Amino acid sequence: MYNDYVMKRKISIIGSTGSIGTQTLEVIEKLKDRFEIIALAGGSNIELLNKQIEKFRPKYVCSAVKTENLVPQGAKVLFGDEGLEEICSNTENDLIVVAVSGKIGLKPTLKAIDNKIDVALANKETLVMAGDIVMKRAKDAGVKILPIDSEHSAIFQCIHGELDKVDRLIITASGGPFLNKSIEDIKNATVEQALAHPRWNMGKKITVDSATLMNKGLEIIEAHHLFSMDYDNINVVVHPQSYIHSAIEYKDGSILAQIGLPSMHLPIQYAICYPERPEGIKSRSFSFVDAQKFEFMKPDFEKFPCPALAYEAGRTGGSATTCLNAANEEAVYAFLDGKITLYDIYTTVEKIYRKHDVVKNPNIDEIFEIDKEIRLKTKELFN
Ligand code: NDP
Ligand code: MG
Repeated sequence: MYNDYVMKRKISIIGSTGSIGTQTLEVIEKLKDRFEIIALAGGSNIELLNKQIEKFRPKYVCSAVKTENLVPQGAKVLFGDEGLEEICSNTENDLIVVAVSGKIGLKPTLKAIDNKIDVALANKETLVMAGDIVMKRAKDAGVKILPIDSEHSAIFQCIHGELDKVDRLIITASGGPFLNKSIEDIKNATVEQALAHPRWNMGKKITVDSATLMNKGLEIIEAHHLFSMDYDNINVVVHPQSYIHSAIEYKDGSILAQIGLPSMHLPIQYAICYPERPEGIKSRSFSFVDAQKFEFMKPDFEKFPCPALAYEAGRTGGSATTCLNAANEEAVYAFLDGKITLYDIYTTVEKIYRKHDVVKNPNIDEIFEIDKEIRLKTKELFN
């Protein structure tokens, strides 16, 4: 626990070489008096990981696979999933930033929780795969799950400890690169077009999820778990300018929104500094007058059916969202490999989802088993 203002918060980042990971290090660099880095874990970008090691001098480093090219500078070297789990079991840490993409996030998050280490969570897939278990274990262990996802950070900032007085969550969506395109354009979209997101520069998986709007679907499920909110009380509104990062409605009808120019530094900084709010990487001031346009519209679930499927999976509960997540992740990789079209991500997920026999209250072993099975079944469709 970090109740002493003089003491530095001891932090590890898994996925340090990714979009969220590098921006987390930018925040930490700006606030270096507040943080001590225990471990950095990357995947296969060893060149960048070496630069980060040189600059931040962690005690532990981890890469996805063993490699001679890693220059640890005296740090203990770890590899693979076991390395991630070792980092997340190290109780020297006050906080772990889980910034890996996809299913890799779940096991390290559970390890951190079981070791009573707070988690700043970017990896939404963790909550889509096993939100009930993750949130229950965190509650039982007294561990904080601090959201990094910008919409959930916005909601978290607006709630400010008064969750019991909140009636409704309003999640905003930029609409992605195909907002104003026809269904035909979406069907014929190239990987390059899908990766050209108008507002955010992110890893490939989440960028494709943003193009299909499955990202919003995953975020609805993420919000349900983080804020124990009924799906009926979670709404999505398209707001192409992304100035409002999300909003909440209190029981008395008052709506609070978090507003600013789009930037991931702020939600990352809020999560890792919580409950403090230092200046850090100060966001550029937002001018309502300069902004001029503030548009809102209903999401088109005909053109973008993924969020509707996510609502359905969320309401069904149990292993339904585990299935949705696994099928989607494999379909996204197949799209990136040129095996299927962008729209086929939806048709693939839907096909697999409809055939899935939902397990009502799966335990964690069952979740991993179902995840594995769904991935195999999904991949079979591409052969
Ligand atoms: P990136 O693809 O940019 O980064 C993923 C990170 O995980 C990289 O550091 C990568 O390493 C690392 N990694 C990949 N495989 C392994 C492995 N086997 N072991 C250890 N590390 C591994 O993704 P993002 O940063 O964009 O997204 C991360 C998470 O945050 C996702 O769940 C996403 O949904 C969520 N998120 C992201 C946002 C954003 O703005 N980017 C916004 C909101 C949520 P390497 O590159 O070295 O291979
Ligand atoms: Mg988001």
